[in-house]
Amino acid sequence: MPEFRYNILTQEWVIIATERAKRPMEFAQTIPRAMLPKLDPTCPFCPGNEAATATEVSRISRPGVSWQTRVIKNKFPALQEDLQPTVSGNFFRPKIDGFGIHEVIIDSPYHDRGITDLSFSDIETIIEAYRERYRTHERDPRVKHIILFKNNGEKAGSSIIHPHSQLIATPIISGQIQGRLNVTKNYRMEHHTCLMCDMVAQEMAQNTRIIYRNEHFVSFLPYAALSSFHTWIFPLEHHAHFGRLSDNQIPALADILYYVLKSQEKLLNYPDFNFVIRSAPVYTEDVDYHWYISIIPRLSKTAGFEIGSNIYINPSLPEANALELRNVVDTLKGLV
Ligand SMILES: [Zn+2]
Ligand SMILES: [Zn+2]
Repeated sequence: MPEFRYNILTQEWVIIATERAKRPMEFAQTIPRAMLPKLDPTCPFCPGNEAATATEVSRISRPGVSWQTRVIKNKFPALQEDLQPTVSGNFFRPKIDGFGIHEVIIDSPYHDRGITDLSFSDIETIIEAYRERYRTHERDPRVKHIILFKNNGEKAGSSIIHPHSQLIATPIISGQIQGRLNVTKNYRMEHHTCLMCDMVAQEMAQNTRIIYRNEHFVSFLPYAALSSFHTWIFPLEHHAHFGRLSDNQIPALADILYYVLKSQEKLLNYPDFNFVIRSAPVYTEDVDYHWYISIIPRLSKTAGFEIGSNIYINPSLPEANALELRNVVDTLKGLV
């Protein structure tokens, strides 16, 4: 029997309709990375082609490699850094000059290695680069919100194969993030606690949608997941802003990212995916909201019904998806 489920954080309804399910093996997607060259002379992000890319803003070096992670300005930015976010227009036609920051984080020098092919210390370096850029831009008084994300594969909107992530800082906050901020604020007024801290505690107590947890993070499928294998990673320590990530949380974040992504790859045959770090607007106090990561394997396309209603149809049961991923993690960890 199909059922409607409501996501209390995102305030979205989803239809869980398992009759429409496909078996995971039918999800096969992109070319395995083993087919890619180690270095592509035509790739703008490969070592040796640094001059071909846009301006470098920072790099993390290591002995033996000229750089491990590089951050560059996006060559085709959606927004421009040299503007002021001046508000103009009128009630019917409001506008703000298109200030914003658009950077690309080149994950590693290796053309053919995704996150799960890297060492844990290489994954930690990517996270350090994310945090360094976040902390830099949150000090810019023109910036209100910073979104860090990764489009992995064509179906996720990526145009360059070499593994990379992106950062966009905007002078506005979207209706989506404002909605989540309002929900967490209202909850705190009523219960004097953080909605997401309480939700994470509930998930851990119920233990039916958990994929994996370690000392500092937990991953689970949302109760009302919008799509198959949609996964959340939450820090156990309360902070609204990703920039508050502490040094001792970084290895744990690298660990959980590895196991979540690796289990999805194994089960779903290297799906294209989007990965988003969802953080509060930079000016908000550290009470409402609680930063987290969404990982969305791109297994189906958004169609007319979703566009028309904003109600998604998920053909799989989140509890069943979580169990499948948890079994893969247990195998990877040698627990079974
Ligand atoms: Zn490359
Ligand atoms: Zn919290």
